[in-house]
Amino acid sequence: MSNLLKYDKFKQFDRLIHGTTLKNDIFPYMFSFAFHTGEDVGDISKNRNHLMEKLGIDKDFDVVLANQTHSNNVVVIKERKTLGWKNHGDAISDCDALVTNQKNILIGVLTADCVPVLLFDKTKEAIAVVHAGWKGTKAQILSKTIAKMIDAFDSNTKDIYAIIAPCIGSCCYEVGSDVADNFNDSVKQNMQNGKFMLDLKKENYNQLINAGLEKENIEVSNKCTSCDSDSFFSYRKEQECSGRFLSFIGMRG
Ligand SMILES: [Zn+2]
Repeated sequence: MSNLLKYDKFKQFDRLIHGTTLKNDIFPYMFSFAFHTGEDVGDISKNRNHLMEKLGIDKDFDVVLANQTHSNNVVVIKERKTLGWKNHGDAISDCDALVTNQKNILIGVLTADCVPVLLFDKTKEAIAVVHAGWKGTKAQILSKTIAKMIDAFDSNTKDIYAIIAPCIGSCCYEVGSDVADNFNDSVKQNMQNGKFMLDLKKENYNQLINAGLEKENIEVSNKCTSCDSDSFFSYRKEQECSGRFLSFIGMRG
């Protein structure tokens, strides 16, 4: 059986299904979940089906994934229908954040260094997933997703719990000045070599705080995908690897 990473802040909610997949060499392609990177679709489907069975939701849940493009586009899912899970072709196009209050839908993002964020409004029972690389972070996709939860479901930000899941850490995320110039607090210059290190966790954490979330409702993973590439796919460390891991959230009806 595959292992999953679970988050303490979400464990208190019985009907919430969530997690992040970890690499596992007993499965095809180290348990990658990506259709769009050229692997055999049948093998990736085996991984996807295994996850649903392990979670015990293979019979009664739909799954929705987006065709992620480093945009700041947020889509609200209003009906139960599986998209982007059995076929890549029907994934929600040009979108990097999904929001819903529908039950028995799993929504997820695929990453390998970019920041995955999971959101849960415990009162309105709305959920969201966000994919934020530096471009999406710069374009405030996380702030925009929370604004969408407020707009669509009347969420109060004091009720929203957030997980910043494993991504590349500031220990490893060296960027050029062209990228660094887009950020202030979250960039540090190494005085020895002059290189810029970007802290995307911090930048996204700040978006959560600025949106009005309570500090105690936010969990930031201390894992770096590049340092821990035994467990996670890392686009940088593995030189443009094609594997992707899945971070997901769903709510039982
Ligand atoms: Zn690192």
